[in-house]
Amino acid sequence: MNFSIPKEIKEVTEKLEKAGFEAFLVGGCVRDLILGRDAKDWDVTTNATPDEIIALFTKTFYENTFGTVGVVNEDTEMENLKVVEVTPYRLESTYTDKRHPDKVTFSQKLEDDLQRRDFSMNSLAYSVSKKEIVDLYNGEKDIKDKIIRTVGEPDKRFTEDALRILRAIRFSSEIGFDISPETEKSILDNTSLLENISLERIRDEFTKMILSPEPMKALLSLRKLGLLSFIAPELEKTVGIEQGGTHSYDVWEHLLRSLQHSADKNYDLETRLSALFHDISKPESRRKGKGKKEWTFYGHEVLGARETKKILTRLKYPNKIIEKVVNLVRWHMFFSDTGQITLSAVRRMIVNVGKENIWDLMNVRICDRIGTGRPKEDPYRLRKYHSMIEEALRDPISVSMLKIDGKKIMEVAKIDPGPVVGFTLHALLEEVLEDPTKNTEEYLENKAKELVKLPIEELKSLGESGKLTKEEADEIEIKKIRKTHKVL
Ligand code: ATP
Ligand code: MG
Repeated sequence: MNFSIPKEIKEVTEKLEKAGFEAFLVGGCVRDLILGRDAKDWDVTTNATPDEIIALFTKTFYENTFGTVGVVNEDTEMENLKVVEVTPYRLESTYTDKRHPDKVTFSQKLEDDLQRRDFSMNSLAYSVSKKEIVDLYNGEKDIKDKIIRTVGEPDKRFTEDALRILRAIRFSSEIGFDISPETEKSILDNTSLLENISLERIRDEFTKMILSPEPMKALLSLRKLGLLSFIAPELEKTVGIEQGGTHSYDVWEHLLRSLQHSADKNYDLETRLSALFHDISKPESRRKGKGKKEWTFYGHEVLGARETKKILTRLKYPNKIIEKVVNLVRWHMFFSDTGQITLSAVRRMIVNVGKENIWDLMNVRICDRIGTGRPKEDPYRLRKYHSMIEEALRDPISVSMLKIDGKKIMEVAKIDPGPVVGFTLHALLEEVLEDPTKNTEEYLENKAKELVKLPIEELKSLGESGKLTKEEADEIEIKKIRKTHKVL
């Protein structure tokens, strides 16, 4: 086998061999070389000890308990060559906590190191100098057949480290392999082992599934193998919830197809998660009026935002990601509620979802629509949406963008500081949201003079809808919904 290996990697293995040690590329990078994929990272394994490795290279760092030495390459542009991880052959002992090996023992034998690896496709080693693959577990054949199979007894390997269960599914969606029947059976028998795995590790594998080219495949496997409950049990209830109308699929399949489209478009993590969760609360919101044929899902986006927050918080996603996804789920209904969307509705939506998120919201809509089984948006309508958003983005969307401020109001209306000033500003904002051509100094000054003469309660209510914060608006919505559903 003659692979083209970056010179930075060759230098590392050559140096180790010149000093009398063995050195092999190992794990994912060998698999990726065979597949012709770009390796995410390059791992080298050797019979040298950490001290011996450190002594050979100019710049290294050593900070973990697994013996890995990072060999630093300062002159490379390639991110994945800046640090080459060199790890002594390791022999893993028992896993009493089913999470970490009780102790890490270094070994002089390559076979020991290959035996501890999770799947046959990840158990290959490659000698750069000899141009030879070491294949003890039929990894090459499994790669050729696109099969994921554990090294050794699957029950034993999953009991040692249950994260391997999720790794199997993740790899199947990342590289398009299938899990072998005996490995799959073992997963089914061992799902409860995942209780031992921290939510952070589960989340990291889940994220990789979502970011893979085939997240729908991953989600289908998770469900089929009884693993959804460890990630987002809330998704289970969407299965079989028929929607009728323009929807060809139940909610579950709709969500998966929306998610898959977000991956086909290569959208970011937040957009993909929003596509997956946007209709999560449709089951609780589904109702049929007396004598009505169609289901309605009134308020599902408000409940869905709450539920999405619960799920992502439990999975310990960073707050920034949670906020963004929750926001996109909360407002995803905007485009679909009417074909006759008005510019003032677009402006309000930008205030609600935030300027910086409006295009992602548009992308969620695209995924939502494709996930329905309907054809792509009519190109004219899509262009029209785009143009309306752009138009609206140029218009004022907060009091600070009005061509008048509190000081000016006090001056022209001859009033003292006090709540009237704020109420007037918000009442003016409401007007400008309806009609941006009114955002001129002249109009606003004259209008302000009129407004301050109104009874304060009336003035206050004029500006109320503009002043309500998103949270307050949500609370009101939630109360309404709960009332219709007669729940607390
Ligand atoms: P990726 O393309 O995601 O980097 P990878 O196969 O390189 O895939 P890593 O998580 O980087 O995966 O791990 C490197 C190698 O270490 C794997 O190929 C595998 O041989 C081994 N490995 C990683 N995690 C485990 C595990 N939980 N149990 C056994 N072996 C593992
Ligand atoms: Mg890797």
